[in-house]
Amino acid sequence: MTQHMYLLQSLIKKTGCMPRFFTCLFYVCIIPYLILFFYDIIYHDINWREKMKISIIGLGSVGSAVATAVKNTGLAHEIVLFDRDGIRARAAAEDLGHAAAFSYDVKITAVNNYRAIRGSEIVIIAAGANQKPGETRTDLLHANANVIGDIVPRVMANVDSKTVKLIIVTNPLDVMVMLAQKLSGLPANRVIGTGTMLDSARLRTILARQLSVSTQSINAYVLGEHGDSSMINWSSACIGGIDLNSFCRQTKISLPATTRNTILHRVHNAAYEIIRGRGATWDGIAGAVADLIRCIANDENRILTVSTVDGVGTKALAMSLPRVVGNHGVVATLMPKMDATESAALRASGKIIRKNYNSI
Ligand code: NAD
Repeated sequence: MTQHMYLLQSLIKKTGCMPRFFTCLFYVCIIPYLILFFYDIIYHDINWREKMKISIIGLGSVGSAVATAVKNTGLAHEIVLFDRDGIRARAAAEDLGHAAAFSYDVKITAVNNYRAIRGSEIVIIAAGANQKPGETRTDLLHANANVIGDIVPRVMANVDSKTVKLIIVTNPLDVMVMLAQKLSGLPANRVIGTGTMLDSARLRTILARQLSVSTQSINAYVLGEHGDSSMINWSSACIGGIDLNSFCRQTKISLPATTRNTILHRVHNAAYEIIRGRGATWDGIAGAVADLIRCIANDENRILTVSTVDGVGTKALAMSLPRVVGNHGVVATLMPKMDATESAALRASGKIIRKNYNSI
C-alpha cells in the first residue's frame, strides 16, 4: 500500500500533474457517482408516480380479498377502502395494513366519505348483495342496481372523469357494467367488468387437468354473460398454439361433445358449488381483479375476456368478448372464430343481458 502511494506521489511530482490528477479523478469517479445518485432519485420517483391510488368500494368477502390481491401486486402506493359499514372497512384497513408490513410499502386507509377517493386512478366496485345458496346472479338484479345507483354518482363527484377507470365486480355483472357506464357518463372503454375472466380461468383449470398440460399453455375463452348463459368458444381454443382438435388428435385424448357439455356445466356450476361449501366466492375473483390491475398499470395490452358496453341506445350491450386491455382501459374488441352453434349461444346470452337491463 505504502509502496503504491510512494509510486503515485513520485509520478505526480515527476509529471507535475497534481491539478490534472484531481480533474481526472473528478471525471472518472465523481461524475459517474453523481449520475448514479440522481438516476436513483429520478428512477424511484418515476416508479413511485407509476404506482397508483386505487379505491375499493365494498369490503365484504370479495372486496377484502380483492384488497389483499391488489396490495400484493405492489402496484398501488395508496389503497382507499370504503364500505357503508364503516367499522368493517376500518377493520379491513387495519388488518391489511399489518399484512403490508410483510410485503410492499403501501398506505391503506379506511374512509367514511367519498372525498377521500380523490386522485384515484382506479375505483373497484365490489359492493352489494351476494348470492345465497341456490340463488342466481340475476336474483340480485334489483338490489344491486340500487347499490350501483347509490355508489357511482358519489364516485364520479370525486374522481377525474378524464382518466379514471371503474372496475365493476358486483353481480349481475354485465347489467351492472351497463348501469355504471350510463350513470358515470364515462367512455365505455373505461368502465370495465371483470366479466368472464373468472369463468375463463375456471375453464382453463378444468382443461389443464383433462389434457395434462399447464393452464399457462391453454388459450380458451368463456364468452357472453358472466352467468348461467355464458358459452365456451371451443372453435378458438388452442393449446400452446395448436388448435384444440389437433391437440386432442396428436395426444390421443378424446374430448367428445358430451365431455364438452359436462365442462360447460362445471364452469356454470363452479360458483354454486363454492357458495354451497364456503358461503361465498372470493379468491378466484380477487385473482382476476389483480390480473386486470396488472394489465392496466403495466399497459400490457393483454387480451382478457372483460365486459364493457358496445353500441349505444337500445343497441347498447355489455358482455364478455376477447378485448385488448392496457393503460387506457379497453383499447380493442375482437371477434373470435365461432361455429353457428357458438354464434347462436353468444347471441342468446346477449339477449338475456339486454332483457335483464331493460327490466331495471
Ligand atoms: P358481502 O355481502 O360479503 O359484502 C358486500 C359488502 O358491500 C358489504 O360489506 C356491504 O356493507 C357493502 N355494501 C352494500 N351496499 C353498499 C353501498 N351502497 N355502499 C357501500 N358499501 C355497500 O358480499 P361479497 O361476497 O363480498 O360480494 C360482493 C359482490 O361481488 C356481490 O354482488 C357478488 O355477487 C359479487 N361477486 C362477483 C364476482 C364476479 O366474478 N364478478 C365473483 C364473486 C362475487
